[in-house]
Amino acid sequence: MSVLVRSGLGPLCAVGRAAIPSIWRGKYFSSGNEPAENPVTPMLRHLIYKIKSTGPITVAEYMKEVLTNPAKGYYVCRDMLGEKGDFITSPEISQIFGELLGIWFISEWMATGKSTAFQLVELGPGRGTLVGDILRVFTQLGSVLKNCDISVHLVEVSQKLSEIQALTLTEEKVPLERNAGSPVYMKGVTKSGIPVSWYRDLHDVPKGYSFYLAHEFFDVLPVHKFQKTPQGWREVFVDIDPQVSDKLRFVLAPSATPAEAFIQGFCGHKLHDVLIAPGTADLTADVDFSYLRRMAQGKVASLGPIKQHTFLKNMGIDVRLKVLLDKSNEPSVRQQLLQGYDMLMNPKKMGERFNFFALLPHQRLQGGRHRRNARQSKPFASLVAGFSELAWQ
Ligand code: SAH
Repeated sequence: MSVLVRSGLGPLCAVGRAAIPSIWRGKYFSSGNEPAENPVTPMLRHLIYKIKSTGPITVAEYMKEVLTNPAKGYYVCRDMLGEKGDFITSPEISQIFGELLGIWFISEWMATGKSTAFQLVELGPGRGTLVGDILRVFTQLGSVLKNCDISVHLVEVSQKLSEIQALTLTEEKVPLERNAGSPVYMKGVTKSGIPVSWYRDLHDVPKGYSFYLAHEFFDVLPVHKFQKTPQGWREVFVDIDPQVSDKLRFVLAPSATPAEAFIQGFCGHKLHDVLIAPGTADLTADVDFSYLRRMAQGKVASLGPIKQHTFLKNMGIDVRLKVLLDKSNEPSVRQQLLQGYDMLMNPKKMGERFNFFALLPHQRLQGGRHRRNARQSKPFASLVAGFSELAWQ
């Protein structure tokens, strides 16, 4: 099992991508798209009703409701990604991003002994663009993977986005099986013949040799917020503003709350505008990678975080860009490829803002039985692609 968190080779096709807007997720705490006034959205009405019934709610509960409430959540009922959406993510910017991740999975599959089967599990696949690009590389390198049974497992709470993912991956070549009441709520076959299944909960994904991918996923999971007071750390809650009807405000818990047991330093986010028009804008929190590492409790090894700029450089982004540029005579495609590269790599844009982090079995870093080059003098960790230069074995 390997987990790649972020948050080529093969046929030389340039895949159409949207023109690049300047807003990407993670740049701001919120999407940058919030209305200035505070319209009474159905979500705001729901939250006010909830708080009136049971009292102020934690920021984690607020995020959960606003983002993934089954009826009104921001992610559940809209397509917020892409050129016309609220924000854009790396796979939507350039095909090269997903292609290099496709190479990463193949490189890891080879380095860990070329298992006869594996599951590719993606958490929060958005529009399915990333997994689509990865699968295109798998098809292109079909001769390498020919004896391996691959299946795709997507964990997605949004009905709307799961439909878009299905369209991206299957192009409706084979009808989908749907069963809203089952943990596997949708099943299909990708256009390249790989079985794909959808789940709402990671626990429902079958056990098996798996690669997990979480791209801009952990930063949408609910977080608790705390503030230091003379009495010690106090949890921040969301309450109804007594001065203004239909408005929410932050309040401090008067005494310790259960979540305080989990405090590890808190860095102050700009939270002032996230209570406006809930349900209409994204909420994200910076991912604490050291917390992810501690959660693993030494059961697995970790690599990173390293900057997106360095990871993609190590994966050979420059070579891939050159190949695509050399193959394309269309000025608009060339311009789009160059702009996409700049957005992903420029330290002032996404290059230094985003990080890659991997959790891997210990033996992967120690060499163990899969170690191929006994005379290799560098630590084995340096052979994990992306965290060091890609070296095909
Ligand atoms: N990985 C994509 C999309 C990131 S947006 C990309 O990079 O383009 C976050 C994604 O996570 C969306 O698909 C959203 O619907 C999904 N999501 C949010 N909370 C979730 C949860 N608790 N469980 C499963 N999916 C979730």
